[in-house]
Amino acid sequence: MIVYAVDKGGEYITVEESLRRHPEGKRSIYVNLTNRCTCACTFCLRTMKKMAEEHSLWLKEEPSAELVKSELGRVPWEYVEEVVFCGFGEPTMRLEVLKELLRYIKSVQPQVKTRVNTNGLSDLYFKRDTAPDFGGGILDTVSISLNASNAERYLELTRSEFGIDSFDAMLSFAQHVKEYVPEVVLTVVDHVEDDGEIALCKKICDERGLRLRVRPYEDS
Ligand code: SF4
Repeated sequence: MIVYAVDKGGEYITVEESLRRHPEGKRSIYVNLTNRCTCACTFCLRTMKKMAEEHSLWLKEEPSAELVKSELGRVPWEYVEEVVFCGFGEPTMRLEVLKELLRYIKSVQPQVKTRVNTNGLSDLYFKRDTAPDFGGGILDTVSISLNASNAERYLELTRSEFGIDSFDAMLSFAQHVKEYVPEVVLTVVDHVEDDGEIALCKKICDERGLRLRVRPYEDS
C-alpha cells in the first residue's frame, strides 16, 4: 500500500476500509514512499525481512511523485485532518519526492496538516544541512525518533549505518529544524526503554526546548 490508514491496534488498512469502518470523523492518512532506511532498529518490523516482505507496507518498487499524487487525488479530503509520511522505511531518503508531495498537499488542500516521521539522520545521509528543506510552510510537524538518552544506547538500538555520530547528528537536526517547522516532537518507544531511560530522554528534550512523546510499540 502506498496511501493507507491505521486502525486500532496498529492495523494497516486502505483509506476506503477506514471509511467503511468509521464513516464519521476525520483521521490521519499515511504515505509510504520507501522501504529503505539508514537504520536497522532492533524493534522495527522491516528488519525482520521475511515478515516485512509479507507485509502490506512492503513496496515492490518505490512510487513516483505522480503515482502518489494520483492516489491522493482519490482521497475523500473531508475526512482527513493530517497526511503523515511514514510507512515502512525512512521518507527523507526520497527528499525531493517528499518535498514535492508536501508542496502538492498544501497547494490542493491547505487546511490539511502534514507530518513527517523520520529518524532525523538526513544531514548525515545527504552530507549537508537539510533542515531548511522543510521550510516555507510545507510541513506542520516533524516527529523524530530519539530512541535513547545517549549515543551508545542509540547505536545499539538503531544500528545506524553512520555509527556513533548518529545520536548527536539527530539531536542537532531536531534543534535546527525548529527554525523551519512549527511542531518538532521527539519520540521514544514505551516497550523498548524503561522509566529511568525515558526520564533521561525527557531531560534531554527539556534542555533543548523539544517535546518528547512516548509512543506505543505498534506505532514503530
Ligand atoms: S528508523 Fe524507523 S524505519 Fe528505520 S529501521 Fe528504525 S524504526 Fe525502522
